[in-house]
Amino acid sequence: MPAVFRLTLAALLLATSLHSHGFDLQAHRGARGLTPENTLPSFAQALGIGVTTLELDIAITKDGVLVITHDRALNPDITRGADGRFIDAPGPLVSSLSFAELGAYDVGRIKPGTAYARQFSDQKALDGTRIPRLADLFALVKKSGNDKVRFAIETKLSPLAPQDTLAPEAFARAVIAAIREAGMVSRTSVLSFDWRTLQVIQRDAPEIPTVYLSIQRGAGENIGADKTEPSPWTAGIRYVDHGSVPRMIKAAGGHTWSAFHMDLTSEKVKEAKTLGLQVLAWTVNEPARMAAVLDMGVDGIVTDRPDLLREEMKRRGMPLPNSTTVSP
Ligand code: MG
Repeated sequence: MPAVFRLTLAALLLATSLHSHGFDLQAHRGARGLTPENTLPSFAQALGIGVTTLELDIAITKDGVLVITHDRALNPDITRGADGRFIDAPGPLVSSLSFAELGAYDVGRIKPGTAYARQFSDQKALDGTRIPRLADLFALVKKSGNDKVRFAIETKLSPLAPQDTLAPEAFARAVIAAIREAGMVSRTSVLSFDWRTLQVIQRDAPEIPTVYLSIQRGAGENIGADKTEPSPWTAGIRYVDHGSVPRMIKAAGGHTWSAFHMDLTSEKVKEAKTLGLQVLAWTVNEPARMAAVLDMGVDGIVTDRPDLLREEMKRRGMPLPNSTTVSP
């Protein structure tokens, strides 16, 4: 083959692999704006809308079962006990309950009058909905026949509350084992604000992509840009040594940055891309903001309203992921 054709072929293959997943439409906790978060009905709804990726959060029960729930302790805003009443704060730690005990709780409705209820006033209640296992979600997606949709699995642990969960090493290993057991390695990424777990994934399962979460404001701030000691969240990597979040992620051996959308600018997206990173923005629910973040050139958006993001993508003539009908 003439050299010029070989070069063209190599360039084409590289371009294909870089863009093989296209724009990443990520359904946050299923389709939380429409259906109770992190439940099988919510993931089924997201599949029905048609998304690239299902984003979900993992906790681990006392008996070692990986379950899909956002909080280390059950959230009183969305959780009712066997008596049908919303639980008092603080709820029990997931790590203090067996999976059977967890099954007594109903997470199908938001507590009326809470800020959460006001934020998600379009969410439809589904009484009797339980916290699912990660294995249940993999089974649902297999049943749906959708062999393209990806999983973004977030490890939920905090360096500020080590007593609440397994340690990072054991937590990450349990997640790797579950992904491998389901045969979903090629369709999964693991994300975390706690970069220690991502370091374990990269070492023990380099075939699973990692996604570095950041937020540079508020109670969840995890970067520590104004501190000389490392943030407890960033696996010992100090902002002061690198001067930007993308450069910290590069130093950590990461390939993808998922930033709180209000922290992002076009310049920061450009810097990350120059370093060879993919950039995701979370969690964007307003159409005007979706458009603004798309204009920054991000590779994906995480949203509670995948239906609205799809509309914006359609308006722009972007390719849309397939939708799949499945009953949860
Ligand atoms: Mg999450």
